[in-house]
Amino acid sequence: MASQPTLTAIRVRAASVPLPQPHQTASGVIAASPLVLVDITTSDGVTGHGLVFTYTPAALKPTAELVANLFPCVEGDPVAPLAVAQKLSQRCRLLGTQGLVGMALAGIDMAIWDALARTHNTSLVKLLGGEPHAINSYGGIGFDGELGSAAAAEAWVKKGFQAVKAKIGYPTVAEDLAVIRAMRAAVGEGVAIMVDYNQCLTPTDAMERMRVLDDEGLTWVEEPTLAHDYAGHARIAASCRTPIQSGENWWGPLDLQHAINARASDCIMPDVMKMGGVSGWIKASALAETHGLRVSSHLWPEVSAQLLCCTPTAHWLEYIDWWNPILAAPLEIRDGKAIVDDGAGTGMAWNEDAVARYTM
Ligand SMILES: [Mg+2]
Repeated sequence: MASQPTLTAIRVRAASVPLPQPHQTASGVIAASPLVLVDITTSDGVTGHGLVFTYTPAALKPTAELVANLFPCVEGDPVAPLAVAQKLSQRCRLLGTQGLVGMALAGIDMAIWDALARTHNTSLVKLLGGEPHAINSYGGIGFDGELGSAAAAEAWVKKGFQAVKAKIGYPTVAEDLAVIRAMRAAVGEGVAIMVDYNQCLTPTDAMERMRVLDDEGLTWVEEPTLAHDYAGHARIAASCRTPIQSGENWWGPLDLQHAINARASDCIMPDVMKMGGVSGWIKASALAETHGLRVSSHLWPEVSAQLLCCTPTAHWLEYIDWWNPILAAPLEIRDGKAIVDDGAGTGMAWNEDAVARYTM
């Protein structure tokens, strides 16, 4: 048997990538994504890519430095992502594996899975034993008010999307309702509408608002209260008929287990980075299946589309194009579905000319 390739080198770059369109949120406008690009090379000369989104520029360089500082713990180890993830999480037991550390670990994990798939000249889906297929996707809408949200919803549907998700959490529930009804009027009954409160309500406020929104036929209401208030989410979920969605801010499969124990969410949407990379997603997917929870994704559309192909209870892919400017081959969408092709790796590789422009 040929000897197993090993992890030989890492390259870490920090970049600020302007969004194709500025994104309006309840807490201000996002104009650029702070990203850490992780490239890990193997003894076979294969390079795997991972991407970390640090949300704020303040965390960009510290996260890049963490990635670079953690790599020596596994330098020379086999290209075996589950084994590497286990070793690194043991090494970080006292430090903890949430926050920036968790993000750095996920960047390393994604890059090693990508390297392993490329070593075998196959896609992540096939490496994991899955079959590539098209994944239903929804388009995101910012905190754009009644007219802006309706226009954005209509634009997504014109592109072929059968689902849209808007940020809400306006000063009054009457305004939330007006935004939802304006979108419904714009897209008709056949299109799924989701809304996202981005953790802005107290559980009591959320229960009051859900009494008003419960007849709007929403596919889900996302993070009505603080992401880690599992008991609060459970009270809200028990009080209304509309499915409650949560998961993008849970750190790793253990947070998911706590949420399941509390019955915090009717469906889940892990973020491949915060869930612990591809290795974390695999565990989350198994937990979701055994508990009958539908799984959607958060950001990372390229990797997430492949992972959803391997997720038995897959629901919706969150489509975003924020990072397209630096990707060699951004995810393709046809008729509102993500096309998962047979290319090698996780689908993330860099457009180096663009990266050179945005590296800090
Ligand atoms: Mg969200």
